[in-house]
Amino acid sequence: MNLEKSKKVYKEGIKYIPGGVNSPVRAFKSVCTDPVFISKGYGSKIEDEDGNTYIDYICSWGPAILGHSNQELMEGIEDIIKDGLSFGLPTKVEVDMAKLMVESYPAIDMVRMVNSGTEATMSAIRVARGYTNKNKIVKFEGCYHGHSDSLLVKSGSGTITYGVPTSLGVPEEIVKNTLVCRYNDIKDLKETFEKHGSDIAGVIIEPVAGNMGLVPADKKFLEELRKITKEYNSLLIFDEVITGFRIDYGGASEVYGIKPDMACFGKIIGGGFPVGAYGGKKEIMEMVSPLGGVYQAGTLSGNPLAMHMGYKNLKILQRNKTVYKDMEEMAITLEKGIAENIKNIGIKATIVRFKNMLTLFFGEGPFRNYDDVQKCDTNVYAKYFKEMLNRGIMLPPAQFECMFLSAAHTKEDLEYTIKANYESLKAIKE
Ligand code: PLP
Repeated sequence: MNLEKSKKVYKEGIKYIPGGVNSPVRAFKSVCTDPVFISKGYGSKIEDEDGNTYIDYICSWGPAILGHSNQELMEGIEDIIKDGLSFGLPTKVEVDMAKLMVESYPAIDMVRMVNSGTEATMSAIRVARGYTNKNKIVKFEGCYHGHSDSLLVKSGSGTITYGVPTSLGVPEEIVKNTLVCRYNDIKDLKETFEKHGSDIAGVIIEPVAGNMGLVPADKKFLEELRKITKEYNSLLIFDEVITGFRIDYGGASEVYGIKPDMACFGKIIGGGFPVGAYGGKKEIMEMVSPLGGVYQAGTLSGNPLAMHMGYKNLKILQRNKTVYKDMEEMAITLEKGIAENIKNIGIKATIVRFKNMLTLFFGEGPFRNYDDVQKCDTNVYAKYFKEMLNRGIMLPPAQFECMFLSAAHTKEDLEYTIKANYESLKAIKE
């Protein structure tokens, strides 16, 4: 595969951008290769600077749920732009978007738009503290909630991959109010509440963890979490930045049948633009400035173009009744095909799927928490990634991430992927 142009851009990029990339995982460091620079995307495919095409299982880490350059989504974008890009004053589309989100996600009565998932979780934590007048928060090992200081503790995604459990530059005084529990471990959760419950403002969780590879929560675990947070008057915050409008239209809250007090969103709600949001019950959200004393603001928050695109994305998903079922069926096809390949080749690997998300772990399951996934062989994943890349498949360039499907993936894509998976597993076994 010719990657000359990508290599050239990368060489130039590392002079001006740390690592040549604007988000660490994009550097392909944990798969021991140079990054591929993308020039365009259409449907389920992306194309790099050298003209190589790939079936894309990153899907912009989730937002491209309709596939790239979806015609209906893109249509009319010029009309929106011609009216102006940003005003720093309220616009109607922000109200339309908030109404749609509140109607779509029954646990929230009000929502505030921000510019990223990081801002959403950071703000939700501030609101939880302001509302409860308590200081501590609980997060789970391996869950990633963006890169704000107090949440960058034993987080997943790039921080696992690069072995930085807590980032440099985060003062101890800031994280001393962040308690970390084991994912899917009810006993640990109960003990933490018994010890610190009176000062726990809230618990933030990825209800389906996607940042230590795919590790779904047990329903029983989430039910206990709901119960215990109520008992101690702590807020339960679902981080649905990945799962919101992905695993189902109503996110993990709908899938598990559990209503959190607050929820955070990102990715899909921007339709490819930088958008995040946090919402909650009315009395909680009324704490937010200008109504209440919790300050949170943003120059480009609710940006008209981003709102138009996010709104359209959600409307297309809402209207298309079979889209989630179809994506799940495609994921099942992949799961079955890959599981069969693993068995036939006799390699130590496990395919995990939840709805339309998947991870191929190079280790033996079950994978229920951060300790379990740590046993995977990241070197083997790196080899596998390169084999698949050479066959025109773009996988997440790190073991501890998820594969995402879009509505644009086709039967042919899946057949080709399963075949490439067979050849790649065989090549790394030899
Ligand atoms: N929460 C979760 C579950 C995420 O996966 C991410 C990013 O991947 C974030 C929060 C942070 O979102 P952003 O990258 O938009 O800041």
